[in-house]
Amino acid sequence: MRQELNRKILADKLKGSNRLQLMIDFDGTLAPLSSKPNTAKLPQANRHLVQLLAEHPDIEVAIISGRSMEDLRRLCPLEGVIYAADHGIRMQLFNQRCIWFGNIWKIQETVTNIYKRLRAEVKHLGDGVLVENKPYSVAMHYRMASRAAATEAKELFRKLAPPLNPENDFHFITGSEVLEFRPKDLHKGIPVRYLIDVARARDALPIFIGDDTTDEDGFEAIQHQGMGIKVGHSQTTHATYWIKDQTEVKQLLEWLQTIVTVK
Ligand SMILES: [Mg+2]
Repeated sequence: MRQELNRKILADKLKGSNRLQLMIDFDGTLAPLSSKPNTAKLPQANRHLVQLLAEHPDIEVAIISGRSMEDLRRLCPLEGVIYAADHGIRMQLFNQRCIWFGNIWKIQETVTNIYKRLRAEVKHLGDGVLVENKPYSVAMHYRMASRAAATEAKELFRKLAPPLNPENDFHFITGSEVLEFRPKDLHKGIPVRYLIDVARARDALPIFIGDDTTDEDGFEAIQHQGMGIKVGHSQTTHATYWIKDQTEVKQLLEWLQTIVTVK
């Protein structure tokens, strides 16, 4: 059953836990979606709110994104948070220690091969189609492209990538104006599950907030063990709760700030 987030339920759950493990997606959740992936901006108010929450002794914050680690840290510079990048392939803990999931060398080889071929194939479609080596997946952004160019680019990508992945361990994921080819078994559910285990050992309530199809693995992982909160109303999500939009993300962060201060 999916329902609009009810703060009383959340407050009651928080009262029953010692701590909070807050996991938040970046694009479309903390930062507005941007026309070009490298121009995304974290609003100052959200940065301040997340930083304050991260500094609270009873709260751990993790930013969970499909972006590369370098990109994510540059766009979302915070102190004392966990970063899970590349859809959970790479995670950086508070002490700067990194955890890697999967055979990264093999993944990089496949990705680089596909990236080079795809970039050459879509070049004639102009600047509206952007191909990105993330570097553990290949993403093709078409937010700035004409509808015809976007359609052609997607067809080219769908034809070109699978033959270059003979072991069939990658698959396509459609996001917001982006088509991505990435490892099947590595997704946001991996860091979310890892952090749920950490949270449970510390009697913390795990919460994961995200907006996109790539967050569904995270919502699935947290379904019975914490709270999945989807940004944007949906009846097909694995998240148990939803909030309307990014304005409500900010309001939720503000509210969390007040409730943990009072506690
Ligand atoms: Mg997102």
